[in-house]
Amino acid sequence: MPNMIPGSEAQNERYAKQVLFRGIGAEGQRALGTATVAIVGLGALGTVIADTLCRAGVGTLRLIDRDFVELSNLQRQTLFTEADAQERLPKVVAAARRLAEINSTIALEPLTRDLHAGNILETLQGADLVLDGTDNLETRLLVNDACLKLGIPWVYGAALGAQGNAMTIIPHETPCLRCLIADVPPPGVMPTCDSEGVLAPVTGIIGSWEAAEALRLLSGQPPREGVLLLDVWHGETRVVELDRRADCPACGGTYDYLTGERTTFTTSMCGRNAVQISPAEERQISLEALEARLARAGEVTNNGFLLSFVVDGAELVLFPTGRAIVKGTTDEALARTLYARYVGT
Ligand SMILES: [Zn+2]
Repeated sequence: MPNMIPGSEAQNERYAKQVLFRGIGAEGQRALGTATVAIVGLGALGTVIADTLCRAGVGTLRLIDRDFVELSNLQRQTLFTEADAQERLPKVVAAARRLAEINSTIALEPLTRDLHAGNILETLQGADLVLDGTDNLETRLLVNDACLKLGIPWVYGAALGAQGNAMTIIPHETPCLRCLIADVPPPGVMPTCDSEGVLAPVTGIIGSWEAAEALRLLSGQPPREGVLLLDVWHGETRVVELDRRADCPACGGTYDYLTGERTTFTTSMCGRNAVQISPAEERQISLEALEARLARAGEVTNNGFLLSFVVDGAELVLFPTGRAIVKGTTDEALARTLYARYVGT
């Protein structure tokens, strides 16, 4: 649409209600238009954040996720449709298609990528702000380390059951996530979406809270302070004050999650009866060649973005970088065996 260039009449009309709001104004709107925001995770939180910031006219959205769309996502992941689940599109591909329909004037950078210590700095580099749409603490602490090292503000958000949390982190100024949570607890200690489920209203509120904070920060307002705790089922909301922890390693410049050797080659996936396998180094795999090879051994489909292979009661979903999700098992050894047998090590 040629008349949709920034500054045009159509653009002024598009953002009219937001520009009228005093906290943003015309200057704030211009700042939003030149900003780059990285959204880590395009699940329940990430889709709400991306939808809101796309409509708000944030200039560039970098979308980062490792997963594909499934039917069980549709209850709360607001950018996806039954067709996306049917096609099993990577979440960033499905999200980018929908976002481009909503606002054709912003730039989208979809990255189907499993974030780890080896690639997070290059992935987040250049972003003005990072927003948390992840579903696990280990990745959040990695994001925390990366953002403190790169000096990028980020907003933590989490939801489980009917409860949600959120907190804004300005590197080396406000408390960081490790000031709040010292370390990842051992497996089995924390409740997960396996045991608790999650309600769409809480992910909607926390995602919106993060998006609102993005609008504040990008239009030059100071961060909101404290940690938000809410329960949508019981109708409780609190903001708790937090101080920087004197012995916080991350605030002290020691980035354990960023510098530590990656210990897990395989990880069980929350609520999925699935195991993810990430090769130590990414490599390019020809899905077409593998499809031809595997067709002799089982049922195989290839949609151009990922390949699915059903064998021995499990399903192996393979991405072109060599990363795989083995569905139908939580047995990491079995998942590794299937991967080694059919993909190769
Ligand atoms: Zn800290």
